[in-house]
Amino acid sequence: MSSITPVEGVKYFDAHLHRQDPDLIDAIGPEVKFEGIKAQVCNGTRPDDWQAVQDVSSTDETTVLKAYGVHPWCVDQLPVDWESQLRRFLKSGAASVGEIGLDHWIQVRDDRLQLEVFARQLQMAHEEDLVPSIHCLRAWGLLVDSIRTGPALRRGFLVHGFGGSKEVLFQLLDLGGHVSFSSYASDPGRKRMRDAIRACPEDRLLAETDAPDMVPPEDLCRFPIKDAQGQRLHHPLEIQSSYAMLAELRQLPLEELAVQLEKNFRKLFMG
Ligand SMILES: [Zn+2]
Repeated sequence: MSSITPVEGVKYFDAHLHRQDPDLIDAIGPEVKFEGIKAQVCNGTRPDDWQAVQDVSSTDETTVLKAYGVHPWCVDQLPVDWESQLRRFLKSGAASVGEIGLDHWIQVRDDRLQLEVFARQLQMAHEEDLVPSIHCLRAWGLLVDSIRTGPALRRGFLVHGFGGSKEVLFQLLDLGGHVSFSSYASDPGRKRMRDAIRACPEDRLLAETDAPDMVPPEDLCRFPIKDAQGQRLHHPLEIQSSYAMLAELRQLPLEELAVQLEKNFRKLFMG
């Protein structure tokens, strides 16, 4: 498998993934083509992978936008100069500060350190006038408070894989937020995500894969891949499934949805 046949005329925009991930690269092979995918935002997660993000190249078909940040799972492994390193990458033509955020789902964690690292990166997003790409699990109140009381984010922000309540969704929208979803939400059990997809205003909605993470249900995967240990991975080409799911839940023709998602993506990341 090296390419896809995208739906005729539909242009795909992936607001959040990790193209630099070595397991993903091993699984899809270097020859894969992303025909039909016009742009992807490639997110780093820690200082160790920022160079790999920078090295992911665009092609004639696909523009790769770069995001650099410290994921909440990686806050305890930071070198002392992480902020100056991050600043340097952000100044090298980044489109976003990501993936950053708050995670109160993981068992072993340091809440104070997570919050401090997140707040510092929001400050950098403010100073560099970039869009933060935010991960949040079970820390919604803290996220809303951090953004409400934090530095101004002139260009708004993205909460990727949004799984909060509708109440939180509207609080984040009021603060300039956008939300993105992958076909992980195709599982009928992901009720909060599905409710948020239906409730989100059309100009704040984006699609993502989060590849190689957030794998959709097995029977819906059109491009099944696994890592060397046999764990299922999310293929970037599944962005088609994300679009199909969003069109179905919002009861829109795919083409109409795609035009709106392109507009939203360009405004947020390329405006
Ligand atoms: Zn991610």
